Amino acid sequence: MEEYEAEWGITMNEYSIKDNIEEVKNNIAAACQEAGRAPEEVTLIAVSKTKPVELLREAYDCGCRDFGENKVQELLDKYEVMPKDIRWHMIGHLQRNKVKYIVDKVALIHSVDSLRLAEEISREAVKKDTCVNILIEVNVAEEETKFGVTCNEVKQLVQDIAKLPNIRVKGLMTIAPFVENAEQNRPIFSKLRKISVDIMEENIDNITMEILSMGMTGDYAVAVSEGAACVRVGTGIFGVRQYMP
Ligand SMILES: *Cc1c(COP(=O)(O)O)cnc(C)c1O
Repeated sequence: MEEYEAEWGITMNEYSIKDNIEEVKNNIAAACQEAGRAPEEVTLIAVSKTKPVELLREAYDCGCRDFGENKVQELLDKYEVMPKDIRWHMIGHLQRNKVKYIVDKVALIHSVDSLRLAEEISREAVKKDTCVNILIEVNVAEEETKFGVTCNEVKQLVQDIAKLPNIRVKGLMTIAPFVENAEQNRPIFSKLRKISVDIMEENIDNITMEILSMGMTGDYAVAVSEGAACVRVGTGIFGVRQYMP
């Protein structure tokens, strides 16, 4: 915990979800004010992966309605027991064979990075008579360990997906590198924004670039100042995650 705080230059109390949410919201509001944006333009997604539903309920009681999960089974388990007015965000790598379980349950899939995955989402959405909102995941920093298309591939992928039924591209998502100083990620966020503007100017049918999903616990304030519409905050709300070995 202390190590994490030192690393990110932040302090937090992992046992008070209410205080944590308040602090994150205050930081978002401050970043908005500095950037001349309205705080309502930014959606805080509580990234609840690995955390028990009791903690999700606590966040829900503090007003959170947007939750992010990165595993299909975990999302489904939580979807079953949590209130139905929650907007679920699939933020992790999605396998094509699992698409069918979530297409009618998620508000937004943040992690689409191939035409084949988009085609599967489209197919399942048609079957379930629903329309699925997605973001294209862009590996802006071109880190080998990360999913996502390269900056050069985004436009073509968006154009191809635009032709598919029952799927709507709403914007772009990126996971910025783990850095000591959040400012180091500013060029990453501004690049994603530039790509979105570039695509918007193409006026492609059926797609918008209204959502930029960028910024996590360590760097969400910088992301907000660069135009993030969604920030995905896990540790800053729920405390550090413990993974099963
Ligand atoms: C886990 C995760 C987050 C949240 O990370 P924190 O640093 O805990 O805020 C955000 N986005 C994605 C895609 C994640 O997998």
